[in-house]
Amino acid sequence: MSFLADKLSRIKPSPTIAVSTKAAELKAAGRDVIGLGAGEPDFDTPQHIIDAAVKAMNEGKTRYTAVAGTPELRQAICDKLKRDNELTYTPDQISVGCGGKQTIYNALMATLNDGDEVIVPAPYWVSYPDITLLAGGVPVFVNCTAENNFKMQAADLEAAITDKTKWVILNSPSNPTGAAYSRDEMKALTDVLVKYDHVHVMTDDMYELITYDDFEFVTPAQVEPKLFDRTLTLNGVSKAYSMTGWRVGYAAGPLEIIKAMNKIQSQSTTHTCSIAQAAAVEALNGPHDFVAERNAVFKERRDIVVKMLNEAEGLECKTPEGAFYVYPSCAGVIGKSTPDGKTIKTDEDFVTYLLEAEGVAAVHGEAFGLSPHFRVSYATSNEALIEACTRIQRACAALK
Ligand code: PLP
Repeated sequence: MSFLADKLSRIKPSPTIAVSTKAAELKAAGRDVIGLGAGEPDFDTPQHIIDAAVKAMNEGKTRYTAVAGTPELRQAICDKLKRDNELTYTPDQISVGCGGKQTIYNALMATLNDGDEVIVPAPYWVSYPDITLLAGGVPVFVNCTAENNFKMQAADLEAAITDKTKWVILNSPSNPTGAAYSRDEMKALTDVLVKYDHVHVMTDDMYELITYDDFEFVTPAQVEPKLFDRTLTLNGVSKAYSMTGWRVGYAAGPLEIIKAMNKIQSQSTTHTCSIAQAAAVEALNGPHDFVAERNAVFKERRDIVVKMLNEAEGLECKTPEGAFYVYPSCAGVIGKSTPDGKTIKTDEDFVTYLLEAEGVAAVHGEAFGLSPHFRVSYATSNEALIEACTRIQRACAALK
């Protein structure tokens, strides 16, 4: 009998972190590897945010804070949600955690009983199913195909709802596809959800600010105010403000859920770093011009990657609305053989081939629940992306 808890066997380590680690190891061993696996911007945290952190330290903001987050940060979050999303929350309806990931963890731990179902559109961010499983819940996947631009269809959502459904998780723009729901597309989903009182909506808006081509971001409770009382709106500063290492994420929602999340947090991390919280206040309240500048850079990269991947034999790549990922299909290479005689049977075989033959690290689609695809993160320089895509084209052309 293992000394370790049974519940650990339900989950696996993050596959995206595993790919980044493997790429780093190969690089350290002297291989010329281009990593397209990382889920973080390659930009630095803007200087005014760093200055706010230094100021906070000098002012002695180095002690424990409230479990839910400092009053200043929770007020800044309420102001942001009002300003950007037309949502009216009070500071006691906000819980700040150590990154978006911990707020999702707190929310699922605080609400799931054994056997409760969580609807997860696939492809999904890898942590949704595993945190659900750890909390005793059952992920119920809804396939969102490339033909539908990886967006959940209202009928498929409705078919997945049962008496046991507790949450539906929505993530727009999405990791891993970059797909984002327009107002009409979101309304089609909220029209279904208003009919089922027992279903709550967890909306992960982490990539809200990273969108292209005049796309208008919307969040479920904004599109359908009737859902406000059963929606948990999640967001954070990690991606848009290039603050992945600072570990600040937040949830806004019904008081009962927020209080329960705070209770869990009070017996785990207590709160996120006081200095990071001060920096997050500046991120939310401070100037935002860098967001548009960085998005312009991301958009150029997206367009390079989409074009070059579509030129590769056997690959097909959609143009997503946001985030910094593309999720090409590799259906056209399945069944082909590599120059050293191996058959590509799965998307995992394909990304392994890319890494071994050409030193390009991407994440296989199976990890995100929709195959045969793979995820490319384009949060790296144009030069690295052009080189990586050239290598992918060469690898595809070498398949027989
Ligand atoms: N939600 C999505 C969709 C993500 O892609 C990520 C990070 O990759 C997170 C949440 C977690 O972000 P954080 O680093 O703030 O925990």
